[in-house]
Amino acid sequence: MKLLEDRIRKDGVVLGADVLKVDNFLNHQVDPDLMLAVGKEFYNQFKDSKITKILTVESSGIAPALATAMSFHVPLVFARKHKSLTLKDDMFTATVYSFTKQTSNTIAIAKKFLSADDKVLIIDDFLANGQAVQGLTDIIKQAGAETVGAGIVIEKTFQKGRKMFDDQGVRVVSLARIAAFEDGQVVFADEQDA
Ligand code: 5GP
Repeated sequence: MKLLEDRIRKDGVVLGADVLKVDNFLNHQVDPDLMLAVGKEFYNQFKDSKITKILTVESSGIAPALATAMSFHVPLVFARKHKSLTLKDDMFTATVYSFTKQTSNTIAIAKKFLSADDKVLIIDDFLANGQAVQGLTDIIKQAGAETVGAGIVIEKTFQKGRKMFDDQGVRVVSLARIAAFEDGQVVFADEQDA
């Protein structure tokens, strides 16, 4: 998605070897027009899949997930993160290792918001090693629901997530695909292929 790649070039800041900071438009300040465009694009990609629910993890996934839910006119449910959780019967839970924070969290979704007849689209801001999306697919499985696919705003193709979901047969659509960071600059996968 050119609009997104242009914005990443303009406002993204490369931190170290493998982290991109995008707090100008996605992770802290949020650009609503860009989010609307992101939501519409995910709608175009998944509109034939009879999606009934959008799932994400708080907090960075919520902005693009809400924009997507608005295009589909279906509910958004965001998993809540807990450092430690007394397991409750009314919650589906999964353990997720955070790539950026290097800690494990339990993510939880109330059982009343996910059921066996749901067809679910997962939305997240980044795909790195795939832990967040994997946690959500685990929860969807616990509910007996179907994971239709995952819509990712920014994928880093050099980390493990993409291969993991390709191997599992989970459809992943990413709007910007970063192949590498070189000298503090972003190299997109489509530039590398060209
Ligand atoms: P994964 O679970 O795929 O390893 O990592 C995805 C999660 O980690 C995302 O939800 C996002 O919050 C965070 N994350 C991973 N890589 C980056 C990055 O380069 N920049 C930012 N801002 N967040 C990231």
